[in-house]
Amino acid sequence: MRAKALIFSILLCEAALAQELPMTTAESSNYRSTSRYEDVIAFIGAIQQADPDIRVETFAISGEGRALPLVIVGPPGVIDPRSAHATGLPIVFIMANIHAGEVEGKEAAQMLLRDLVSSSRKLRDAMIVLIAPIYNADGNEKISTDHRQTQNGPPNGVGVRENAQGLDLNRDYMKLESPEARGLISNVLNRWDPLLTVDLHTTNGSFHGYALTYSPTLNPNASDDLIDFERGTLLPHIREQMRTQHKKETYYYGNFLNQLTPEKGWYTFDSRPRFGNNYVGLRNRFTILSEAYSYIDFRARVEVTYEFLHEILSGVEKYGKKMTRIAARADEQIRRGKLRKGGVRFEIKPWKDTEILWERCLPADSSNGVPEPENPGETPHHIRRTGEIVPVKATDYGIFAAKERSDVPYAYVIDGAARNVAANLATHGIVLEKLSAETSLAVDQFVIGDMKREEHAFQGHNALTLTGKWKSRTETFPAGMYVVRMNQPLARLAFYLLEPRSDDGLFNWNFFDSMLDGKIAPVRRIVKPIPIDATIVSER
Ligand SMILES: [Zn+2]
Repeated sequence: MRAKALIFSILLCEAALAQELPMTTAESSNYRSTSRYEDVIAFIGAIQQADPDIRVETFAISGEGRALPLVIVGPPGVIDPRSAHATGLPIVFIMANIHAGEVEGKEAAQMLLRDLVSSSRKLRDAMIVLIAPIYNADGNEKISTDHRQTQNGPPNGVGVRENAQGLDLNRDYMKLESPEARGLISNVLNRWDPLLTVDLHTTNGSFHGYALTYSPTLNPNASDDLIDFERGTLLPHIREQMRTQHKKETYYYGNFLNQLTPEKGWYTFDSRPRFGNNYVGLRNRFTILSEAYSYIDFRARVEVTYEFLHEILSGVEKYGKKMTRIAARADEQIRRGKLRKGGVRFEIKPWKDTEILWERCLPADSSNGVPEPENPGETPHHIRRTGEIVPVKATDYGIFAAKERSDVPYAYVIDGAARNVAANLATHGIVLEKLSAETSLAVDQFVIGDMKREEHAFQGHNALTLTGKWKSRTETFPAGMYVVRMNQPLARLAFYLLEPRSDDGLFNWNFFDSMLDGKIAPVRRIVKPIPIDATIVSER
């Protein structure tokens, strides 16, 4: 009798829960609209009503003053990063709406959250899930039917790509000029240290046969062990699940060099860590970029993104322990000073010959013949789609290799006047010290040969490229010079930020402009480990 009563009351409970669970704006509008900021906040509030164990933090205040929510879903007792790390469980961070015209991630992330308090509750024994459903909230609130007109819905419009400052948040990971990016790094990546970060987008460009494409970290300076596991095991597993469980084809993100001649190759995008997927790799953590296919309708994009998220979590359930070990080993190797060399400039390379699902397209006016190749990723204007999907043999230009490398020193010494640089490094979570007293040190100086500034501004910057040579000197430095030792887990990131020749470092982003006399770069390298009398000024 008692057992029966118990089962009955559990059933009642579940029924009550089901009734109280909210719908997303996409669902309640029959996929005509996407959620406003207030809708997302109300949805999270309703989820908390249904399940008081769900916690919410504010990880940043947007430029226009909106509190950006981070929803925390885990086993009972996980209330903060300390209690989360004490469980030893993998932490997965899902972020959506970094580009607020690309909205299905925001809807799918809310649906996943609802599952985690209902049908997928058991996942909460295996992992901790952090969800930031509306990263670029300010961009989201500019919803209009004028935006992203080649995207297939939602019919009532979407937000804009940029934040209130006009910045693209997916180009701000290194320079950290937006309050959103500074909050994301400080309050999510530094505090919670997620094992895997998932970033949800929508494609632009090529016509292909994949409902969704994805990318791991693309910068070769990330740990080989992480890259190999993701490309060799995790992503193939998720792809296979998408095929067998959901009957959907997915593949690595790319664009045809030319939509009319697909055999000329399938090209991924960029290796620079200004992009979130590449940035996270430099932190020794796993990352998946998700790109729902722009030309399928809004409902189908929400659905495939939602299924992809579920399969990612299933993948973490299966491989989380192994992934945790790989990431910990990557940290440990750097602590032991095993990082010796890194790339500073990179080029795209063929990864493999494969079959790509192409949508057969024809020249819009056949008398023009086949146009010359253009840049991969540009939306073609001169073609006619046929709707026919065919596999074609093509080379996947899906990886990058360093074309120029540099030595990783024991430590960098940075001019004490470079307060903007110190603030940037500290926000990234890089441990920063200051020389306690005047010190004479054997260092390498970067002797500048040439300084070239881009003519056109990008994200408010005329990017700087230095050329020059490292030369050994002994120098006496005053107290107060900054020191960054490279036997810390974020050394790959520090290297990328501080190398004068780095294609996405702080020299490139003009942080050192006021300190450049055209002779010696204001960053020195201490090549060999030596005792340095310095005190910590920022700690992770
Ligand atoms: Zn995007």
